[in-house]
Amino acid sequence: MMGTRDLADILPLIQTLTEHTHTHSEMYFPEHTQIINHPDLPGYTIQGGSSYLKIADGCRRSCAFCAIPGIKGTLVSRDKGDIIRDALALQQAGVQEINIIAQDVTDYGQDLGQHDGLPDLLVELLSAVPHIPWVRLLYTFPGYISDRLIGLMAESPRLLPYLDIPLQHADPKVLQSMHRPSDVDWVRRTVAKMRTKLPDLVLRTTFIVGYPTETKESFQMLKDFIVEMQFDHVGVFTYSMESGTPAESLSDPISAEVKEARRQELMTLQAGISYQKNQKLCGKVLSMLVEGVDRKNGVLIGRTYRDAPEIDGLVIAEGTGEVGELLPVRITAAMQHDLFGQVL
Ligand code: SF4
Repeated sequence: MMGTRDLADILPLIQTLTEHTHTHSEMYFPEHTQIINHPDLPGYTIQGGSSYLKIADGCRRSCAFCAIPGIKGTLVSRDKGDIIRDALALQQAGVQEINIIAQDVTDYGQDLGQHDGLPDLLVELLSAVPHIPWVRLLYTFPGYISDRLIGLMAESPRLLPYLDIPLQHADPKVLQSMHRPSDVDWVRRTVAKMRTKLPDLVLRTTFIVGYPTETKESFQMLKDFIVEMQFDHVGVFTYSMESGTPAESLSDPISAEVKEARRQELMTLQAGISYQKNQKLCGKVLSMLVEGVDRKNGVLIGRTYRDAPEIDGLVIAEGTGEVGELLPVRITAAMQHDLFGQVL
């Protein structure tokens, strides 16, 4: 095991393993207070026309169920110049989509003394890479999506109207015991504001079911909230107790069967909502980023701005093209998660 602050740490670790022909596990965690960048060692990987770009590592929040701050340590933001340098390299490589990631992207820059540093970073990044048409934000923290960020999304078409806000629950009591923001009305207000300013906004969220303090009533509250909010994409996880987290003291009283039944119930509920939303896309023309080509059947597989890589849906379209191209596609049919279309 090794830390994530410096990719080059893998070299001495491999050296140690080679020298000692270890058969047991090896830990290598040198103390780094910053993320170390090496100009010859890119901090990104490219898949087709898409890439993730990490802007920070670690987390300052204290969600009671989460082991990440204990594993990764507190927030360490990357230097803006290093991020822009990576973005330029991605543009040079022909990447069409950058997915901005961190444990919490809205916290970018706090450790560097910046307040609401994410919009500043995005302004510079968008201007530095004018040929990258899709910049997507993943993992935003409830309560920290600023008006400035919403305004920037409204005025910058390349900053996709897509937000991933993991809400985890809708019952304020459960959220309090999770040590998460519990002002559910903030979510209602902010989503309403965003939907007014960004008519094409796509919202993704995730929920945890079976948290120790979740009652039948709080689960019902969560179901009502999902119906009320009409999210585009919802992921549901069953609670899993992590040792060493604050939530460990609550034990794990809800059975695995009940957790799974609740998960299934929410997924079925959301499937109906997603289906209705996808049906409304039929007949529309959207840009699709090609991720796969089936030449034999004349079919392309890709995603529109509405779908983040790996976690959301796909488009299966008749036509020709190459991986990494952005092509206009008319949507001809829709299922719960995936769409069908025709390349124009
Ligand atoms: S759930 Fe996310 S925001 Fe909360 S502590 Fe874990 S990494 Fe940080």
